[in-house]
Amino acid sequence: MIVMKFGGTSVEDARAIERVVSIVRGRLAQKPLVVVSAMAKVTDTLLTMARAAGAGERKTALKLCRSLQERHYNTASELLGTALFTDFHSELGSDFESLDELLRGISAVGELTPRTTDHVAAFGEMLSSKIVAAAFSAHGLGGVHVDARDVLVTDGNYTQAAPQQEETDQRLQSKVKPLLEADKVPVMGGFIGANRSGVTTTIGRGGSDYSAAIVGAGLGAERIEIWTDVDGILTTDPRTCPEAKRIKVISFDEAAELAYFGAKVLHPATVLPAIQKNIPVYVLNSRNPSCEGTKITTRAPQGKNIFKAIAVKKRITIVDVAAPRMLLAHGFLRAIFEAFDRHKVAVDVVSTSEVSVSLTVDSNNAIPALAADLAKMADVKYEGRKAIVCLVGENLRETPGIAAVVFRELADKKIRMISQGASEINLTFVVEEDEVQDVIQRLHGKFFAELDSEVFA
Ligand code: ADP
Ligand code: ASP
Ligand code: MG
Repeated sequence: MIVMKFGGTSVEDARAIERVVSIVRGRLAQKPLVVVSAMAKVTDTLLTMARAAGAGERKTALKLCRSLQERHYNTASELLGTALFTDFHSELGSDFESLDELLRGISAVGELTPRTTDHVAAFGEMLSSKIVAAAFSAHGLGGVHVDARDVLVTDGNYTQAAPQQEETDQRLQSKVKPLLEADKVPVMGGFIGANRSGVTTTIGRGGSDYSAAIVGAGLGAERIEIWTDVDGILTTDPRTCPEAKRIKVISFDEAAELAYFGAKVLHPATVLPAIQKNIPVYVLNSRNPSCEGTKITTRAPQGKNIFKAIAVKKRITIVDVAAPRMLLAHGFLRAIFEAFDRHKVAVDVVSTSEVSVSLTVDSNNAIPALAADLAKMADVKYEGRKAIVCLVGENLRETPGIAAVVFRELADKKIRMISQGASEINLTFVVEEDEVQDVIQRLHGKFFAELDSEVFA
């Protein structure tokens, strides 16, 4: 069997879903299971309406809900035609009634918890997966909707829940495998699951890729396909640098570094389940399905270029912690990391000297409280509007003198926190956010002007 995951833009409207129908039709012989995201922008809208309700703005929330309802109804009726839509209408209708009720409840209480946030956010994938399953049936593909909350078991860390592979595997065997054996095409929403008590959870933004990988690993898929709106993993984000080119094949390790340091095309956790079961992952374009995309696999040819790609992560804050009194003091680093842990702030890049530590974090509201906490043990400064730039490639390991080439290219830029991860396949540093476009253009021009055709298209 194979897993095919379609992202938000790939199911954004009836035409996009029709493309999905024809792509899946071409793979029926391989027994596909389909994972879908919410329709493009729907998760953002759901979170906006949840926050509005939480702030007591009931009217705003309900108005947003109406517009979502209209969009989903229109899409479904276009796909199904009048006769079929009549049946399906009541099913969507009862989901929107529940959402409406939920929003009224939240605004009456005037408080939005992570748990209720997940309840609201889950509607996006619930609705899109039902519509896609109905479209598959209408087009003779044997689509069956599977509620992801009956299958993907997670812990109870709302909005960032961790999938539990073993328990999920058992559910997959009992609830999904029989459908595949009966030549049905199961369709489930990504991103959402439930904890052991059955309460709805979500696994973090962009998490549908991760859901697809968990499901693929659980069912022993031959391949996992991530269908999106670009031709594959490119040498950098095409929105920052339109000259970006497609990478034909890349290793799991390289793809993981890229995803971790901001390449949105793949959720960072996606490759883990695939590595464990050695399942190749393909990134493909639903608008250009004949393109071969990118293959992610254990061993990838390295070719002549030093780097495979450049990732960028914006909206970064640098936190500097300096403690002269604690010079080399045992336990200092632990105390610092414990503070980050207490405030649930994740750290990306770290650099240290004898008396100070600099750490990067995603800019967020917790930073002032974290800084106040750290200030009890050291001098603390923090500075936002930074970006992490990360150059990735396994050739970096064997090539001396590369840092000099990179930084000569950026001689006039203010570079902070240079680090080469222990994996030795990335070179990472921090720049001012407003310089990132220029930095990427230059580096891309330098390292990707000529491409080895074994690795790049
Ligand atoms: P989906 O909704 O299908 O999950 P995403 O928006 O999450 O799609 O990811 C696809 C987007 O990732 C692309 O449109 C592109 O702008 C962005 N992106 C960032 N870095 C890269 C990269 N190195 N290669 C390809 N796309 C990238
Ligand atoms: N719909 C979710 C999001 O927008 C999950 C995903 O698309 O992968 O974050
Ligand atoms: Mg995505």
